[in-house]
Amino acid sequence: KRAKANGGTELYQPRAFDLARQQFTIETCLRRAIEAERLTLAYQPVIELQTGEISGFEALARWREDGVDIAPSTFIPVAEESGLILPLGRWALDEATRTLRAWDRRAGMTLPVRMAVNVSAIQVTRDDVPAMLEEAARVHNVAPERLVLELTESAIVADPDRAAKAMEAIRSVGATIALDDFGTGYSNLAYLQRLPIDALKIDQSFVTGMLGDRDKVAIVRAVLSLAEALGLRTTAEGVETLELSQTLAALGCTRAQGYFYAAPLDAEAAYAYWSRSNSA
Ligand code: C2E
Ligand code: CA
Ligand code: CA
Ligand code: CA
Repeated sequence: KRAKANGGTELYQPRAFDLARQQFTIETCLRRAIEAERLTLAYQPVIELQTGEISGFEALARWREDGVDIAPSTFIPVAEESGLILPLGRWALDEATRTLRAWDRRAGMTLPVRMAVNVSAIQVTRDDVPAMLEEAARVHNVAPERLVLELTESAIVADPDRAAKAMEAIRSVGATIALDDFGTGYSNLAYLQRLPIDALKIDQSFVTGMLGDRDKVAIVRAVLSLAEALGLRTTAEGVETLELSQTLAALGCTRAQGYFYAAPLDAEAAYAYWSRSNSA
């Protein structure tokens, strides 16, 4: 009876099983990697377009297993589906804050930079992000004003009321909020005036290759003027060339981030980048 019921699915069932098994393997390895603190963070500089100064760094999770780098686009979705994003997210916030403090110590001064950390929609709905933030700031003796939480529109869509409460609480702790991957989600724009958002990050899909693509230029212009009207800062992601950085500056974009300035760097190289640009 069972064989008959499954008869029609015979062809793709083994494949579905393989995918499930692969996912399970990644999940098992990831759990161990988080527990053993084998993940690291890379730090990508964010540049103030008007002055060329470093505005801050974005912390990005990195996972190397048996000498092979596993991309965040592979393991972050697995982490989100399995709930491992909760310990991963806690670790990332703590680690990024600890690194910022370590840089301060090394420089013998409070570095005039902010540290941005990515927060998954699942953390916003299932964890107490404001409390985590407060704790990381307190434990590492970092002013919360130096911390930026990058949230995506999906956090708002998932649970608008909870997202609004979390965002208010994050702001009352003193940290700021950047809306990540702006323009790629489905949410309605009304939340932009209701929610305490400080900055929009324009997704790299609109930025990279924008020159010579009139539609992309139109979208970027529209986002920049919307942001200006609402008093929000803007960061362009995926800035890979000098020409692009100059165009974005001319269009009034506040900040830029991308390979033109630097790829995500390990903590050591990121500190060196700051110290070089500070002494120049
Ligand atoms: P994102 O937050 O939009 O991060 C920007 C991504 O663009 C990073 O990819 C970065 O390495 C890449 N990038 C930077 N400059 C350039 C450039 O000039 N050109 C191009 N083509 N790409 C550039 P990455 O590190 O692979 O991370 C991918 C995504 O994974 C992130 O996108 C973010 O959504 C997620 N992610 C990474 N770390 C974390 C984390 O700790 N927590 C959470 N929740 N998500 C994370
Ligand atoms: Ca981000
Ligand atoms: Ca982004
Ligand atoms: Ca992105």
